[in-house]
Amino acid sequence: MFSAFRSLTRRCWLGGAHSLLMGSAGAQAQDGNGAAARPACYSAYDREWTWPVPLDAGQKREIPLYSTRQYFLDQAASVRPVLRFEAGRHDFRAWQRELRAELSKRLALDAQTKSPLNSRVLSVEKFPGYRVETIVYQSEPGVLAPSLLYVPDNLRAPERTLIHCHGHGSGPDHPLYKYRFEFVKRGYIVFAPEVRDFGQRAFGKPGGMACDRTYKLAALLGKNIAGLRLWDFLRAIDYLETRPEVDRRRIACGGLSLGGELAMLLAAIDERIRAAFVSGFLSTYDALMFQTNNCICYAIPGIMTLCRMSDIAGLIAPRPVVIQTGTHDKPVPTAGAQQAFLELREIYRAAGAADNAVIDIFEGGHQFHGTVTFAAFDRWLKPASSAGGKE
Ligand SMILES: [Zn+2]
Repeated sequence: MFSAFRSLTRRCWLGGAHSLLMGSAGAQAQDGNGAAARPACYSAYDREWTWPVPLDAGQKREIPLYSTRQYFLDQAASVRPVLRFEAGRHDFRAWQRELRAELSKRLALDAQTKSPLNSRVLSVEKFPGYRVETIVYQSEPGVLAPSLLYVPDNLRAPERTLIHCHGHGSGPDHPLYKYRFEFVKRGYIVFAPEVRDFGQRAFGKPGGMACDRTYKLAALLGKNIAGLRLWDFLRAIDYLETRPEVDRRRIACGGLSLGGELAMLLAAIDERIRAAFVSGFLSTYDALMFQTNNCICYAIPGIMTLCRMSDIAGLIAPRPVVIQTGTHDKPVPTAGAQQAFLELREIYRAAGAADNAVIDIFEGGHQFHGTVTFAAFDRWLKPASSAGGKE
């Protein structure tokens, strides 16, 4: 059934082109009732439709009709990001300022309104070694961000704090994101706001994901889904600065997958973040654009014309960052991560801080891997009194 329809519509659609190539009027295809079949627009995503074009002497060759994939591959190959960092061309600090400002525009952060936080502690639960406070704060007028704050017992001074960004799924308690308890066990204060569209903030049924709907609605209003989510995390820093337990000079962030994107953006945009880890996210947009199992929400409009993903991570420099990539990561293959890291390392080198960009390539999939990160964060987030040597 489908192939019969396809055959008819292919003939019909090609009628015009065919007639031009043949120098004669192309015949309209007829359906079974003698009516002209409607021309069809093919969206051949992963395959190319071809049509045999008769050349002279009875020879034929196949010409591509249209391939979405090939079209965008060609577009990606020819794009020249205007703010891609080039060591010989850019002054590092001036480049950072320019890219940070432009990225903020692409994320539509200037469309957000800062409101009083009006934070409330809704409940406190005690567990061995720490307590958990359930908190809400207002991130923009009328928008409440539910969050969990984990505070270790017996703090003697303001402590280093991790802003934990979870990724797709049911919310912060999804098994992939429970690694935050490892930070709590190591004495970190951990702050875990719920990302918009997940958990209690899901659009539609609780636990569901609807990034495409939010993406569309945001786009219609000149906003951006990543920017909206990021905004809550920018305000999370404002909230943490109100807490006496938090050492505001030692606030770090990190996340896996979408959480890795948010952590990267948070550290890139806000220099109050002292260190970051980005797990299962850093890659090249070229490597990700045909990973069809990835969600739409990482696609910042026009970003490939602005910069490489490594440039966004380069906004963190010279502040330290760990990039994590699993050798069996399917959504974000390690080859793209390693390529992006090579680019990132060049940016850190230009910032005079090559040692502050670290990659952890581990045997595993799309998951957090703590070994390198825990050790690096212990070095980078020492209290000011005991910090020494390089940042
Ligand atoms: Zn998504």
